Amino acid sequence: MMTTEKLQNHLKHVESRIREAAIRSGRAPDAIQLVAVTKTQSVETLEKAYAAGVRTVGENRVQELLAKWPSFEDRFEWHIIGHLQSNKVKYIIDKVALIHSVDSLKLAQEISRQAIKIGKVMPVLIQVNPAEEETKFGLSSSEVELLVREAALLPGIKIQGLMTIAPFVEDEGLLRQVFSEMRQIFDHLKEVSIQGVEMKYLSMGMTHDFEIAIEEGATMVRIGSGLFGERQ
Ligand SMILES: *Cc1c(COP(=O)(O)O)cnc(C)c1O
Repeated sequence: MMTTEKLQNHLKHVESRIREAAIRSGRAPDAIQLVAVTKTQSVETLEKAYAAGVRTVGENRVQELLAKWPSFEDRFEWHIIGHLQSNKVKYIIDKVALIHSVDSLKLAQEISRQAIKIGKVMPVLIQVNPAEEETKFGLSSSEVELLVREAALLPGIKIQGLMTIAPFVEDEGLLRQVFSEMRQIFDHLKEVSIQGVEMKYLSMGMTHDFEIAIEEGATMVRIGSGLFGERQ
């Protein structure tokens, strides 16, 4: 069973690996933000995570987020990190601080529409899939700028960066290539400076690849099993 002490140890260990990778990449250790991925974890485990010092959590399913949210409300900063269906946006719009997974104009439009209804401007990331694997969500590199430019015009959202899920492979060279390509797209979008777009967060890196992601420029890592143990 996951105890608060065990979680605290995992958290310290992950945080020190994040710091070291940040320093290796010539950045300040606090330039990297940790999102604790709590999908499949119970309310009891989240309570322990809170006690261990976790404050930002990522969920990939709307139903699951809604089930846990009442136990914590704003004690956590909630992020949606998984594929989001347009028809579910209305349930989470008032509960989440960042949506990592915007992969279509249709979804961006719905987020904007629902945000405006509640007088909010919703921070979002655009999900990119530079490896262009057919099984994953996310846009190809060439589609990204187009979507960013179109979505930037929507009044209810604020684009704050990019997100990717790297392919699940051992090949470090391939992972570096994917993360480095993301970094290039991120830097390019920063340079062309699109009105209303702030390239602030580069969300990439999970338990098995977060150090490589940080070395290649990640500013936000999403870590689940490295904190909570392998999921069932
Ligand atoms: C599950 C998940 C993670 C965390 O994965 P771990 O390998 O457990 O760290 C990160 N990002 C997304 C989008 C996920 O669905």
